[in-house]
Amino acid sequence: GPRVGVLALQGDFREHAHVLSGLGADVSLVRRPQDLDGIDGLVIPGGESTVMGKLARAYGLAEPLRAAIAGGLPVYGTCAGLIMLADTVLDAIDGQQTLGGLDVVVRRNAFGSQNQSFETDLDIPELGERPVHAVFIRGPVVESVGRRATALASLPDGRVVAVEQGSLLGTSFHPEITGEHRFHEYFLGMVRSHAGA
Ligand code: GLN
Repeated sequence: GPRVGVLALQGDFREHAHVLSGLGADVSLVRRPQDLDGIDGLVIPGGESTVMGKLARAYGLAEPLRAAIAGGLPVYGTCAGLIMLADTVLDAIDGQQTLGGLDVVVRRNAFGSQNQSFETDLDIPELGERPVHAVFIRGPVVESVGRRATALASLPDGRVVAVEQGSLLGTSFHPEITGEHRFHEYFLGMVRSHAGA
């Protein structure tokens, strides 16, 4: 299968690794710059983007990750991972550093506190007729989608919660914890077509 790294500094990387292995990917955990060598794609998990950003810097991963994104490596970010990929972050903690790459503006914690977490079904025609069950845990919302990015899914009120742009994919929610595998399959398709290109 395609070689997919999962950024394993913090957050729910084990859940992603489990889903990806189940789909036949050759999964490795990424904690050091050399762990990026030879991977065909990368997943940035949910967690806490402020902590993830600090650890990425501390482990010397921030610049190699930016370079990999700029070089076209397929990357899928969920929740905190989407924040890490966003070019602009609103309600960021002072000095918070992300990686960027996705031409979007996201707002952290847009749905309120932890106990305002919620679940809903999303219609995403690209992923088939059956709605996608989405779990939001202090997730970000995509407040604006730039010219280079495309909205993939929105809440009934129109707020965008999934985006793609070239080899980058991001969701405000957590398909890795619900048994919903279509986003990971979709991402593996992006990885395969990129690796075969
Ligand atoms: N609120 C977190 C952040 O700002 C994201 C939450 C999550 O990944 N479930 O990074």
